[in-house]
Amino acid sequence: MTDPETRLSALQHRIEHSCRSAGRDPAEVTLLAVSKTRDAAAIRALHGAGAHHFGENYLQEALAKQPALADLPLTWHFIGPIQSNKTRDIAAHFDWVHSVDREKIARRLSDQRPEHLPPLNLCLQVNIDTEASKQGVSLAELPALAEAVATLPRVRLRGLMAIPRADAPDNNRAAFRTLAMTLSQLRHTMTSLDTLSMGMSDDFETAIAEGATLVRLGTALFGPRD
Ligand SMILES: *Cc1c(COP(=O)(O)O)cnc(C)c1O
Repeated sequence: MTDPETRLSALQHRIEHSCRSAGRDPAEVTLLAVSKTRDAAAIRALHGAGAHHFGENYLQEALAKQPALADLPLTWHFIGPIQSNKTRDIAAHFDWVHSVDREKIARRLSDQRPEHLPPLNLCLQVNIDTEASKQGVSLAELPALAEAVATLPRVRLRGLMAIPRADAPDNNRAAFRTLAMTLSQLRHTMTSLDTLSMGMSDDFETAIAEGATLVRLGTALFGPRD
């Protein structure tokens, strides 16, 4: 069996290859290591191998691991569903949140972001294939949500995130393309948006071909989750 450090380097090469095939600069694509269910030691080892961005879905699990890693310059991304009573801790312990789909949550994150930290980076989660998921704002409601979030003082709207879950990776291509087109439409009025968080272990190469700037890799890096 290969270890996560070896897999990281193989995945970085695949990301570079996908970028070059698409005529894109590999520096445009960030690898987010999705570390839910992995312990602090696994995260530390992967950081040693060159990973800097880590994604967590479950707040309590993340808060339990983070103190053991406080000596490392990690960038933490929250990518799971958000209940209102979790926003205070998310605002204090993460650098990015990808899963914002309601104005109320964005407003709480802005209000609760500690003063000594820079504004919290946000992506809006879009429900790109309504059947597969209940999370995410609809395409119809997205522009109003984006405008509301863009006015909040302590968050910085960066872009869009989606989790299309088709049976075959290539079936996600249309969803990725829709998300990319949606971002470029928003950029007409919100020129600072720069992030397209899409693509996971099974479909990140397709996502990069369609314009992803951040791919979220769990099992491809760490192996199957128990
Ligand atoms: C778990 C998870 C991932 C990683 O999934 P893999 O298929 O293991 O790569 C990516 N994004 C989100 C939002 C997740 O919850």
